[in-house]
Amino acid sequence: MQLDSLSWFPGHMTKPRRMITAELGNVDAVCEILDARIPMSSRNPDVDELTAGKPRLIVLNRVDQADPEMTKKWAAYFRSLGCAVIETDAKQGGGVKQFSSAVRTLLHDKIASYEAKGQIGRVLRVMVLGIPNVGKSTFINKVSGRKTAKAEDRPGVTRGKQWVPVDKTLELLDTPGILWPKFEDPNVGVRLGFTGAIRDDVMDMEDLASRLMAYLGAHYPDALTERYKIAVEPGEPGWELLEKAGRKRGFLMSGGEVNTERMARILLDEYRAGKLGRFTLELPEENA
Ligand code: GDP
Repeated sequence: MQLDSLSWFPGHMTKPRRMITAELGNVDAVCEILDARIPMSSRNPDVDELTAGKPRLIVLNRVDQADPEMTKKWAAYFRSLGCAVIETDAKQGGGVKQFSSAVRTLLHDKIASYEAKGQIGRVLRVMVLGIPNVGKSTFINKVSGRKTAKAEDRPGVTRGKQWVPVDKTLELLDTPGILWPKFEDPNVGVRLGFTGAIRDDVMDMEDLASRLMAYLGAHYPDALTERYKIAVEPGEPGWELLEKAGRKRGFLMSGGEVNTERMARILLDEYRAGKLGRFTLELPEENA
C-alpha cells in the first residue's frame, strides 16, 4: 500500500482553493462537514489557512455510525477551538434542524452589526465544504429541502457554484470542485480507507482490515467477540484476529489455510454497513 496522499488523489486543490479564496468575501461563515468517526482525518487542513478569520461551524455528520461518547468529546474539542458544532445524521435527518439556529447564534454579533446599519433580515451566506463521501450533498439536501440529484462530482466535470436557499434569510454556497483529503501522516490515509473515503482498489485490503481489527481489538474488543465469536487478547495483532474470525466463519482454502482476503472484505463491508456497532476511529487527545 502506498501511503502518501499524492499517489491516491490527483491533488487538484487549485480549483477549490481559488474558489474558496474568491468567494470568502461573499460569505458570513464557513461550514465544514466532517465524518464523526474520523473528524480529524476527514478535514482538509488547507481549509483552516484558506478561511482563517471566518466564523466556523463544524458539522459532525454520520453520528449514527460513531461512538456517542466520543462524538461528545469531539464536539467539546472543536468548541474549545472557537467553532460552533452540530451533530447530524444527514441520511435520516437527525440534528439537521439545529443548523439554522446554530448559524444564527454563531453570527449573533454580525447580525447585530447588520441590524445597526439598518439591514434587518439581511440574508446570511454560508460556504459549505467537505471531502468526498462525508455526506455533504445529503446534508445540503436535507437542510434545504433540495430534491435535485447530486451534482456531478467527478474530476474534470465542471459545474458552477450553487447558492442553495435554506430559508428567507439563510443561503448555502455549495462548492464546486472536489476538496480532496490531504495528509502526510499514513495513519490518516488508513482511517480514510476504513470508512471507504479512499477507493478500495488502490489499497491492500488485508493490510487495511488487519489494521482495523487491531484498532477494534484494542478499543472495542467486545464488539469483535460478539460479532465474530472470537476471544480477543490484549495487544493481539490484527492479522491474528482476522485469521481467527475467518476461521470461525469457515473461510478455509484447500489445505486448510484461512482465506484472510475474503475475511478482510467481509470485515470492511460489515464495519462500513454498521453491523459491528458504532465506533470512532480517532480521539481528540491524539490531535490536541
Ligand atoms: P458527499 O460525497 O460528501 O456529497 O456524500 P453524499 O452526500 O453523496 O453521501 C455519501 C453516502 O453516505 C450516501 O450513501 C449517503 O446516503 C450516506 N450518508 C450521508 N450522510 C450520512 C449519515 O449521516 N449517516 C449515514 N449512515 N450515512 C450517510
